[in-house]
Amino acid sequence: MKVLVVGSGGREHALCWKLKSSPLLTRLWCAPGNAGIADSAECVAIGAEKVDELLAFAKANAVDLVVVGPEAPLVLGLADKCRAAGIKVFGPSAAAAELEGSKGFMKDVAAKAGIPTAWYGRFTNMEKAKDFIRQKGAPIVVKTDGLAAGKGVVVAMTLEEALSAVDMMMGERVFGDAGNELVIEEFLDGEECSFFALCDGSTALPLVAAQDHKRVGDGDTGPNTGGMGAYSPAPVVTDAIQAEIMERSILPLVKTMAEMGKPYTGVLFAGIMVTSAGPKLLEYNVRFGDPECQVLMARLDSDLLPVLAAGAEGKLAGVNLQWSDDVALVVVMAAKGYPGTYEKNTVIGGLDRAAQVEGVTVLHAGTALKDGQVVATGGRVLGITAKGATVAEARERAYKAVDALDWPGGFCRRDIAWRALARD
Ligand code: ATP
Repeated sequence: MKVLVVGSGGREHALCWKLKSSPLLTRLWCAPGNAGIADSAECVAIGAEKVDELLAFAKANAVDLVVVGPEAPLVLGLADKCRAAGIKVFGPSAAAAELEGSKGFMKDVAAKAGIPTAWYGRFTNMEKAKDFIRQKGAPIVVKTDGLAAGKGVVVAMTLEEALSAVDMMMGERVFGDAGNELVIEEFLDGEECSFFALCDGSTALPLVAAQDHKRVGDGDTGPNTGGMGAYSPAPVVTDAIQAEIMERSILPLVKTMAEMGKPYTGVLFAGIMVTSAGPKLLEYNVRFGDPECQVLMARLDSDLLPVLAAGAEGKLAGVNLQWSDDVALVVVMAAKGYPGTYEKNTVIGGLDRAAQVEGVTVLHAGTALKDGQVVATGGRVLGITAKGATVAEARERAYKAVDALDWPGGFCRRDIAWRALARD
């Protein structure tokens, strides 16, 4: 099969790395890819949001399957265009991608499907939003309806905080149009995890759970990032909890989306809070998490390619996946200054040394080749992914590889998987 992966981050490197091992693969492209992805796929210089150019490339090269990494091309209708052109694609339509694009839409669908989640209200009027907050009391959570790069959520512990979040989002319009509507919801207390399933429009196949680290600093301090590390399995997700998430938060969603005429095809990422009253849905994303994808691919023993193709064809029923019992852990290395301003084009040395550490795969997120050297081109730059029999072993291997690098311009958190280790 000829496959085109769309995207250029660590998630897409993980997907290409995994797809590359498939005996069914005849050719693999990645648009636009990065310096590390170039080891697994032929990189094509088309940006992930150039949907018409991507479609033209897929047609011209008789691509059998398009796999879309990030949400932006999905929201722009890449999957719809591929399907209309008769090209198989693993990713949701623009209408189904609204699950991530609008929190209000997501909450309405979850309510319709009877999925356990926080109670909520949707508001386009500031005073009504504030009245709702005063009536419900704190703690309470205030969110912009639209995407705000992970910053449009205020978990307010006091009434004052919640009311000033409304002023900031709707009054001062700090997040622009994303704040035209607000979702105000119940505060859920518990341990958070990311759960993934592959969907084919009518059914869903569970993957596994992972836990990530959003804050930039050790001890979960500092500003939010795209994710500084992750590990899988997530000890909080027992077999019973996984079964409950599938039964109550994934399968009803797939059924309801199909009934609404917006069948969901692609990977479904459920942000779950495991509360004392069971797992409750925080949000859906319409793509793999980055960096969670890196640890999922490291643990998946089955061939990924036929499974994604089955998903694109509506044939997931009866498919089974094999997973390694090993722990996989990824430490994200970022350019100093991230998530604020950071320097670009710093040279990264020691990549071969790092890759030689037992159980380690170095995945690239933001790199390019310049004059024969690998340079950093993004905020998040590398994902040092390690497998081990235990969390402690995987973590030791990952940090050994980090220490083998020669990259003064980079940094990482030193406490990835602290929660899992604390349990041990
Ligand atoms: P954006 O849309 O701006 O990119 P996001 O999609 O990351 O943001 P959410 O995942 O809904 O936004 O929320 C971000 C974080 O806020 C969650 O990972 C969780 O830690 C916290 N959070 C969200 N909703 C709740 C809730 N109801 N109770 C407690 N914490 C919450």
